[in-house]
Amino acid sequence: MEYAYDDQNIFAKILRGEIPNKTVFENDHALAFHDIQPQAPVHVLVIPKGPYMSLDHFARDGSAEEQAGFFGAIAAVCDLVGVEQGFRGISNTRAHGVQDVPHYHMHIIGGKQLGRMLAD
Ligand code: 5GP
Repeated sequence: MEYAYDDQNIFAKILRGEIPNKTVFENDHALAFHDIQPQAPVHVLVIPKGPYMSLDHFARDGSAEEQAGFFGAIAAVCDLVGVEQGFRGISNTRAHGVQDVPHYHMHIIGGKQLGRMLAD
């Protein structure tokens, strides 16, 4: 599979500081910020700082340090936003997964009782 990263995507612009964001947590390899259209009381996006398009791209080509930094950021977000009662981590991927922004991101969604995983 070929991955052609588009550096004009909205999250690349956020990483370059061209568009503001409400940061929850940041480390050397990842940034976490509030989703602009939250689907639940907690809706945070965690993104790697490297140019990865999707979960499978990051899993394949992300370095051990980048992957550790990314999952460390997820752990930090979970401590910060209050999801002790649970949450859902979602990575929509390409067309069938209905991914809108082609920079890898994990949605951390919670703060209320969620419904079943798939609507259709
Ligand atoms: P996807 O459909 O790609 O999994 O999710 C993209 C998410 O990015 C959506 O939940 C959408 O609300 C969020 N989003 C799109 N543009 C912006 C933006 O400029 N700032 C922030 N914080 N979130 C955004």
